[in-house]
Amino acid sequence: MTSEKFTVEKVLSIQRWADNLFSFSMTRPAHFKFTAGQFARIGLQVDGELIVRAYSVVSSPYDETLEFFSIVVPDGAFTSRLKDLQVGDELYLEKIPYGFLTLARYQQPLPHDLWLLATGTGLAPFLSMLQDFETWQNYQKINLVYSVRTQAELAYVERIQEIAATFGEGHTGFQFVPIITRDPQAILHQRLPVLIENGQLEAVVGQQFNPETSHIMLCGNPQMVEDTKEALKQRGLSMNRRGEGNIAVENYW
Ligand SMILES: Cc1cc2nc3c(=O)[nH]c(=O)nc-3n(C[C@H](O)[C@H](O)[C@H](O)COP(=O)(O)OP(=O)(O)OC[C@H]3O[C@@H](n4cnc5c(N)ncnc54)[C@H](O)[C@@H]3O)c2cc1C
Repeated sequence: MTSEKFTVEKVLSIQRWADNLFSFSMTRPAHFKFTAGQFARIGLQVDGELIVRAYSVVSSPYDETLEFFSIVVPDGAFTSRLKDLQVGDELYLEKIPYGFLTLARYQQPLPHDLWLLATGTGLAPFLSMLQDFETWQNYQKINLVYSVRTQAELAYVERIQEIAATFGEGHTGFQFVPIITRDPQAILHQRLPVLIENGQLEAVVGQQFNPETSHIMLCGNPQMVEDTKEALKQRGLSMNRRGEGNIAVENYW
């Protein structure tokens, strides 16, 4: 089964952000082609058994390697092992990518303003999209909203600025909006659905959600996804189905 569905890849680098968060990169086989926003299935051998989990790709579709951003779940079957990963270790990678959280899914409305709303590691697919020049060409406004619990969990901030400077060079419509839910001093510290209901998110961004122009993607914690979806629907925004509509979602558990 393993040889048919998976290839064995080598870990190339590891970056630790906090006790419960790290990123790693691995070799990318030539056949592994993906669209920004898709996820890979990664496997680890544990006591002779292969444990496999879904991981959104952080890298650009044009990168030579594959990068991922991982939580460490205490006692999690996969991540309690993955956290001890070392450079040079081997990981299994399923040969094909999966997922429909891609910008290609939108036909109507046409691209204009893009809202990428993430909790925690749900940031990953959006980093991939932002490392695709097409995203910057297609959207006049891009708002990356990233909700974490503590300042220490706010990973990738410098990379986000670098990505915006490189891929979005000359683009004037990008905004990065962090939310830190356990820091009352943070400019935004309430949960995303609350910040939509009370208008604070739009006030900080200086734009409004618009059923005629907005593409809105939600990724991460399923409770956030569900509640934010409902808050957006109350504002007249619709789920994207068969190409039409504003909201596309991906739940991580
Ligand atoms: C489409 C898809 C893409 C995913 N992409 C990523 C990714 O890019 N990075 C990533 O870290 N995880 C991602 N996940 C979650 C991932 O597949 C595993 O659930 C995670 O690695 C934990 O595995 P585990 O076996 O240790 O714990 P599990 O038994 O899988 O999960 C145990 C519990 O941990 C919590 N949990 C799981 N994942 C997360 C998370 N990411 N953040 C916070 N709490 C979590 C939930 O409460 C869950 O019930 C994705 C899941 C899906 C479905």
